[in-house]
Amino acid sequence: MTTIAPAPLDVAALLPDGAHLIGGEWVPARSRATLDVVNPATGAVLARVPRGTAEDVDDAVRAAEAALPAWRDTSPATRGELLHRWAESVREHDDEINLLEAVEVGHPVGPSPIAARLTYLAGKADKVFGDTLPTRSPDVLGLTLREPYGVVGAIIPWNAPGPMTVFNTAAPIAAGNTVVLKPAEDAPLTALYLARLAQEAGLPPGVLNVVTGYGPEAGAALPAHPGIRRMSFTGSPATGTAVMEACARNLIPLQLELGGKSPQIVLPDADLARAVPAIVRSIIMNSGQVCAAGSRVLVHSSLHGRLVEMLAEGFRAVRVGRWDQPVDMGPLINARQEQRVLDYLAAGREEGADVVVGGGKLTGAPYDDGHFVEPTLFDRVTPGMRIAQEEIFGPVLSVLTYEDEEEAVAIANGTRYGLTATVWTRDVGRAIRLARRVEAGQVAVNTVGDGGPAGSIGTPFGGYRHSGFGRSMGPDYLEDWTQVKAVIINAG
Ligand code: ADP
Repeated sequence: MTTIAPAPLDVAALLPDGAHLIGGEWVPARSRATLDVVNPATGAVLARVPRGTAEDVDDAVRAAEAALPAWRDTSPATRGELLHRWAESVREHDDEINLLEAVEVGHPVGPSPIAARLTYLAGKADKVFGDTLPTRSPDVLGLTLREPYGVVGAIIPWNAPGPMTVFNTAAPIAAGNTVVLKPAEDAPLTALYLARLAQEAGLPPGVLNVVTGYGPEAGAALPAHPGIRRMSFTGSPATGTAVMEACARNLIPLQLELGGKSPQIVLPDADLARAVPAIVRSIIMNSGQVCAAGSRVLVHSSLHGRLVEMLAEGFRAVRVGRWDQPVDMGPLINARQEQRVLDYLAAGREEGADVVVGGGKLTGAPYDDGHFVEPTLFDRVTPGMRIAQEEIFGPVLSVLTYEDEEEAVAIANGTRYGLTATVWTRDVGRAIRLARRVEAGQVAVNTVGDGGPAGSIGTPFGGYRHSGFGRSMGPDYLEDWTQVKAVIINAG
């Protein structure tokens, strides 16, 4: 949890006013309309960006098509070098990037993994290989080439615009595709700034285009555009379904990263002193607006009382406030999200769960300026309750109890999601058994996610079931952005 008080940020010095990036030029929307980007902690307008529509998306796709032949034929080593330069620039501007993300998303300023991820992807650019195929005759050579799809589209959400921009643009670009990115209307500034740094690092015009605007306008136009050859989408299941339907009409593949209801399974022998801070951090990070947030604790009945006491203590210690104060948690992104969280708090009470800590909106200064809610701990939650089944996307943790491993697995797998999970235990055998049986794209043991800076590198991230399909990062991530061509040469 971070506690640095950052210097004020001059957004106007980082980004041109009311412009997005198409074909290497900063241009307004064709309609000239703009939308305001607001700091969710204060309501202050940070900047205005173009309110793009289908016309702007069309311009961007054409620019990406124009850039494609040269980029596809650029040596993969050169592509990697350019991405390395982008990573270097990101590292140099780390403070601005972190602050920009903090003011548009509302979370406290903290270290960001994006330069490291960018470096990882840059290093893979010249390591995408085809195969040599066995042949029936010595005069024949059979092989496969991995070729980029062409122009690809990416739609990302507002909760982590820095990492989302990097995952969804650097990998396809490294593999020789050109990209049109549509960031979220609530938090488009980090994506624009990262694209500016990419341009300045030498990425040719049109390789990375960013069109800002609302989902139903700019967003919907992207997968519907016939020039798009592949999509990636990160966001809500409802919007993911709409994007997938649009992709189906154009018969293009997509990667979908949707929500989660990730379980934190606490076994009777768990090291609670280690587990509790990690569990609390996992649900208050970014005010719980994280698809991988550990939003359900499944605890063995023998530990229930002690764990709830320790969690309550952890929740009470969470400092909530503005990004520029020494706090652990900021506001929710907007009024709609606040209402959604408050509705879930009401639903939890109505269904009979106990509120141990929190349970409402925060009021008074400075909370009245933003969308602040209390970190909330619900106990005596049962698996059928809405707060045990549905993604809240807020700082709300539900505690459920189980009696044996079978029941723990059944509860863990008993939602429609399957994004991440954590198992807390000292018993390696049980850890392995549960890691195999829990249905999730990522299972951590005695840590959360990839384990942070000391954890695994290039960890694939993505979901089972309604959490989506396809994986960001991971050893094969660049290959995902290529299609296989078989070549058979008969010299006989
Ligand atoms: P939220 O409801 O939290 O804003 P969404 O899944 O709707 O989450 O938003 C994620 C991203 O999808 C954003 O960039 C948003 O603009 C975009 N989006 C929203 N609606 C659509 C749509 N109909 N088609 C394509 N993109 C959309």
